[in-house]
Amino acid sequence: MIIVISGPSGAGKTTITRRLRKLDNVFYSVSVTTRPKRENEVEGFDYRFVDVETFKKWVDEGRFLEYAPVYGNYYGTLKKPVEQALQKGKIVLMDIDTKGSLRVKQIFKDEAVLLFLITDSVETLKERLIGRGTDPPEVRERRLNNLKDELEDGKKFDYIIKNISIDDVINAIHSIIRAEELKSIRNQDIINKLLSDLGS
Ligand code: 5GP
Repeated sequence: MIIVISGPSGAGKTTITRRLRKLDNVFYSVSVTTRPKRENEVEGFDYRFVDVETFKKWVDEGRFLEYAPVYGNYYGTLKKPVEQALQKGKIVLMDIDTKGSLRVKQIFKDEAVLLFLITDSVETLKERLIGRGTDPPEVRERRLNNLKDELEDGKKFDYIIKNISIDDVINAIHSIIRAEELKSIRNQDIINKLLSDLGS
């Protein structure tokens, strides 16, 4: 299963993914970006930070599952670690933009579950964005301008979760994972086994 978390900047995606990636059966897909590293970020944990030249080379080599320009920088998900984690039966967790999320759903129709994280008001979003203070003004401007587009994309997601309290969001995601695990598409083998036992 691939759990994709998306939503506008300031919706709280990073806090939520940091909590979820501590779980044993979860593999977090660390994205590659050309954005400069923020002070509190750790190379290889938050992102793999590369220059534009390296990013474009990796695009040409077909190393990305998906990639997109977001707010003026490139971001991409590497194919190999995701495929390896899926083979091991891990739950792959991604924090990517809405366009990338919809692309992942196209590629992994049965495996991907798209979660759209949102705050209760535009004011809260704006406050968090401005309060963050880590971005240059032009990036902050782009994040605000993108909001409408992201909200429209959110309507196409499997689940929409309002982030009022972190614990409530985490509980909601646990419930979603449990329900998704029981979906018939993921459990055909149980019935097939019974059918085969019936026949023999
Ligand atoms: P930030 O610069 O705030 O860390 O991330 C900016 C946006 O890029 C966020 O919406 C984040 O979800 C998105 N993002 C991060 N990694 C990827 C990725 O690998 N692919 C895509 N398409 N978007 C990403």
